Amino acid sequence: MVEVHDADVIVVGGGPVGVTALAMLGQLGLTAIGIEKDPEAWPTARAVHFDGEIFRVLQTLGVTEELAAATLPMSSTHFQNETGQVLISVPTGEFGPQAWPNNITFHQPEVERLIRQRISELPNIELRRGVTAGEVRNISGGVEVNIVDSNGQEAVLRAKWLIAADGARSPIRRALEIESEKFGEDAEWVVVDGHLVDSPGYEDDMVFLCHHTRPALWIRLPGTRVRMEFMVMEGDDLDEIVTPAAIERISRGILPAAQFHPDRQAVYTFRGRISQRWREGRVFLAGDSAHQAPPCFGQGLCAGIRDVANLTWKLALIKRGVADESLLDTYEAERKPHAQFWVEQATNAAMFLQTTDAEAARKRDEYLWANPMDAAPVSPPIGPGLHDSTEGDISGYLSMQPMLADGTRLDDLVGMRFLIAANAELYYQLGSDVRQQIESSDHIVVMNEPEKTNQLLEFSGSSAIIVRPDRYILGVGDSVIDLERLVQLLPGISVQAQQSV
Ligand SMILES: Cc1cc2nc3c(=O)[nH]c(=O)nc-3n(C[C@H](O)[C@H](O)[C@H](O)COP(=O)(O)OP(=O)(O)OC[C@H]3O[C@@H](n4cnc5c(N)ncnc54)[C@H](O)[C@@H]3O)c2cc1C
Repeated sequence: MVEVHDADVIVVGGGPVGVTALAMLGQLGLTAIGIEKDPEAWPTARAVHFDGEIFRVLQTLGVTEELAAATLPMSSTHFQNETGQVLISVPTGEFGPQAWPNNITFHQPEVERLIRQRISELPNIELRRGVTAGEVRNISGGVEVNIVDSNGQEAVLRAKWLIAADGARSPIRRALEIESEKFGEDAEWVVVDGHLVDSPGYEDDMVFLCHHTRPALWIRLPGTRVRMEFMVMEGDDLDEIVTPAAIERISRGILPAAQFHPDRQAVYTFRGRISQRWREGRVFLAGDSAHQAPPCFGQGLCAGIRDVANLTWKLALIKRGVADESLLDTYEAERKPHAQFWVEQATNAAMFLQTTDAEAARKRDEYLWANPMDAAPVSPPIGPGLHDSTEGDISGYLSMQPMLADGTRLDDLVGMRFLIAANAELYYQLGSDVRQQIESSDHIVVMNEPEKTNQLLEFSGSSAIIVRPDRYILGVGDSVIDLERLVQLLPGISVQAQQSV
């Protein structure tokens, strides 16, 4: 029996991860339907920071000009103790290897609006708001989901795959009985967003206030917006603590009642969780449904966007018959260890930040003065999957993005394809049949021109590098044997009948 699908992919959840997934799928030529239970977009901020890698993902969606105007590159971060002594100062302002600033702050509703606008331009994508997803079932050759709209109208949707980007409480994860592993201790914090007018705030863009009498966090956002987060302490009255007078008091005067105009005050639980499984048949968890981290390194949303950047091109290659379904096994294998690294880092940092005992705080200060690098963890490679496993090289790590002499960012020439950047002499040692396969594939682009490849090859320390559509490194090499080994990993390319010229 031929299954009739309403779309290639159903995405449940129209939060930032869901809408990014929809935009990527649309750009890759798949049909997708997004289901979001809230009739209106969430009006207030939650995430406020992303890194250069995420800016680069959003570059692929073609929204960067507007995004650059709506975001603020961060230029300075420090951690301070109760008496204001600086524990660590972290440089955050560099224009980094992703060809975007390394760290950016933003107002989440504005970023979501830009992505939703992009979706509305994609004819193969539909986002249905005010529609709630119910039971999800794996069926032969696809997946089925019950939906109900705000008038109580019920229907069933079918697709080849479903992405559950339905948030930290994920009804789909719960229905699939997928447990989550807990990291660190949960803690309640008050999050306060608003406009600070005619008052300087802290000079640095982000300040971790490791005050043992009340741990707190300060973040400067675009325009006059600022965020402060305060740990809830024993004896706090949760109604009183969000009054203007209380905010002025607990911010130690940084948010004076007369100058600070709040638009959101909420109690939020910092928690570290990783879902034990990220897949059930053709259903994939992504974003907060798969992992949650305290916002210490601002990596919660970043991890969710990495999930869909990893998954969507794989779905597209399978749909087009270029790759086998087994490619989907690499999603959890690659993403889970990477996401877990950041959950562990954030829960460790939360422990430093949340110390409320004076003696423990003193020891923490000594430790951080001696180990400043603990405040600036370096992103690890993805887990085992579609990349060369040669020990010790940069395979599996995020690549850099060259900025060309004329100001073009290289990804704009690559699109959502594999990139083979190699010096010409090496590339032309590949057999003509292999080159013919590569050059006739529309999911691979080859670049030999030094003005385009020099920076990447210098970064890789090799004569050839292959970068995946999600910008992670498939592998690097210096000989035709290396290059053949890497090319063999590319979906749709066969190197068996190698006849080097
Ligand atoms: C106070 C706070 C500060 C944060 N700071 C940062 C930060 O600085 N940087 C960072 O990277 N991250 C941060 N985060 C985390 C970040 O907000 C989340 O990681 C991000 O919002 C997750 O996006 P998501 O799309 O996975 O989930 P969500 O944003 O939760 O979206 C899930 C969506 O699914 C919908 N939904 C749920 N069930 C159904 C259903 N059955 N049918 C249809 N729709 C459904 C919901 O209505 C919701 O819109 C912060 C979070 C909070 C709360």
